Amino acid sequence: MKTKQNNEWQGVWVFGDYRNYFQNRVTLQLIAKGRQLARELGIDLTVLVLGSQIHQYAMEYTAHGADVVMVVDHPSLKNYQVETYVRVVSQLVQNFKPEIFLAGATGFGREFFPRLAKRLNTGLSADCVALEIDGSKRLLIQTTPAFGGELLADIITPEHRPQMATVHPGVFEERIHDHAATARIVYPEVDIQAEERVQLIRSKPEQSRKGGLEEADVVIVGGKGLGSKENFQMLFELAQLLGGEVGATRPVILSGWTGEGRLLGQTGKSVKPKLLITAGTSGAVQYTTGIQGAETIVAINRDPHAPIFKMADLGLVGDAKAVLSLLLEKLKKRL
Ligand SMILES: Cc1cc2nc3c(=O)[nH]c(=O)nc-3n(C[C@H](O)[C@H](O)[C@H](O)COP(=O)(O)OP(=O)(O)OC[C@H]3O[C@@H](n4cnc5c(N)ncnc54)[C@H](O)[C@@H]3O)c2cc1C
Repeated sequence: MKTKQNNEWQGVWVFGDYRNYFQNRVTLQLIAKGRQLARELGIDLTVLVLGSQIHQYAMEYTAHGADVVMVVDHPSLKNYQVETYVRVVSQLVQNFKPEIFLAGATGFGREFFPRLAKRLNTGLSADCVALEIDGSKRLLIQTTPAFGGELLADIITPEHRPQMATVHPGVFEERIHDHAATARIVYPEVDIQAEERVQLIRSKPEQSRKGGLEEADVVIVGGKGLGSKENFQMLFELAQLLGGEVGATRPVILSGWTGEGRLLGQTGKSVKPKLLITAGTSGAVQYTTGIQGAETIVAINRDPHAPIFKMADLGLVGDAKAVLSLLLEKLKKRL
């Protein structure tokens, strides 16, 4: 939406994606960050929620820091239909003119937001790992890995509005649930004619194991430097002894050493363990994005100049298999 009067556009919006509410916290993380950005701009943070019988989410988003919750509650919005959602949300954006609009870089956000940005004729930065305000120009600086992760690019949208970004889960901290918080709840008028070109016949939620990788206190990650599937198996033994979970980098998944569900990073999961041991991983930004929430990082790599050592609290230069074998041996003796 090109406009010479960008000052007509005001407000920070976050799209409230409440599916898998208890597992997927990225909307709550964005509310916290969006609120901070809104405060810097001297405006409100609005969470937009679409669906049917969704009042409970308006309450949740209020408790997590929204100033305004915009609720569009209608039976035909019960299930996500891309055409209907894009039509309804683009109408709201055109009517209310938020200057910033954020969503989680989840499977949903990656499908929905590019379509919405196209409809609104504005830019979109995908998979951002940082967001800042340039106060002098009132611009959102959207930081995202570029050129295969070789660098972090700061992207701006100087002419078009809203400034849109999807943000990687786990990058920002959610605010503590505050029962006493209050927000303005608004029910905007919007034309909701469902375009039923696609019919949802049935849906089955994916079973996610409670207490999995994303909630583990100890995570052991293996990278390509482990050399083989057999060596990678050592991680499971170590994880069992330490009461943890096993994660992997993209090349490990591509080599078939373990399943996609263990992938960490930009296109995988984000973890926040107390202890993370990362062995044979170079430290590419697409991977480290997924581990930056770890409290203590121990890195094992035979190359003393490997970038992973820059973010490690403790670095061990050596052969990963040899170091892990020694660690296993010592741990077994202590049991
Ligand atoms: C758009 C895009 C998205 C991506 N998303 C992800 C993602 O979500 N997650 C992800 O992980 N990657 C992702 N990648 C790939 C990412 O850029 C890296 O290629 C990947 O993370 C590297 O994995 P690695 O560290 O296991 O392997 P490598 O980069 O090959 O590093 C292996 C390391 O092991 C060390 N080593 C070798 N032998 C030994 C030994 N015997 N003992 C100890 N150390 C040893 C080496 O010194 C090296 O540092 C993505 C890439 C792109 C372009």
